[in-house]
Amino acid sequence: MRTRVLLACATSLVLLVTGCGDGGKSPEATAPSSPPPSAALPPEPSPSPTLAPTKPPLRALPAKLPAGLIRTTGTEEVALTFDDGPDPTWTPKVLDRLKEAGVTATFCVVGVQVRKHPDLLRRIVREGHQLCNHSWNHDLDLARRPIAEIRADLVRTTREIRRAVPDAEIPFYRQPGGRWTAEVVRVAKRLDMRSLHWTVDPKDWARPTAATIEKRVMRTAKPGAVVLLHDGGGNRAATLAACAKMIAGLKRDLGIKQLS
Ligand SMILES: [Zn+2]
Repeated sequence: MRTRVLLACATSLVLLVTGCGDGGKSPEATAPSSPPPSAALPPEPSPSPTLAPTKPPLRALPAKLPAGLIRTTGTEEVALTFDDGPDPTWTPKVLDRLKEAGVTATFCVVGVQVRKHPDLLRRIVREGHQLCNHSWNHDLDLARRPIAEIRADLVRTTREIRRAVPDAEIPFYRQPGGRWTAEVVRVAKRLDMRSLHWTVDPKDWARPTAATIEKRVMRTAKPGAVVLLHDGGGNRAATLAACAKMIAGLKRDLGIKQLS
């Protein structure tokens, strides 16, 4: 196997050398039968490859979740968290359901969404809900990037939140996809944010039915559970439809309380 690989490499090398050594005539130098495609297209907007900065390699994800994550409420009651908004279609409806049920939740908001819908962020805060920084544009690999990049992303998101609500408290950070590293936990802590994970994930992002979402939550929610739901990032009709029954059930069985 190894010999074959070596042989293949050697062959490619020979081809490469002969290709470059044909008297300086690259394929582009010979008369083309039709104009090159670039003639019909606008110039490439990409910068010259020599000027493009080289991206540092991503840090490896740890095999298990790092220390320092909040995964339970610390009390009997459960906490509801809504991620990836604010979204003009779903967030107002989720807020209506929460108001009807008389409970408050934690909204893990994405910077680009806050920039587009500052009015929704103001409503979230006005109605007594809590905020959590959920990164600038939901970069699943953010926690694996250089510390300075992580910090810049979190700071930018916090700044956008405070542009909408100047005195907003943002006690939490949640890593997109739950793909945590010790480094992102540390950066969040330095920015006065605790890292918020979850206990119950009904995978509403994979678009199961409302009945499935409700069943998954009710079956797995234990005292102190942090429930992960979504009010943004896609069609959340099923999450919304699950809300009334699910919230009533959780309120009855365990109680719902905002994280503290
Ligand atoms: Zn998310």
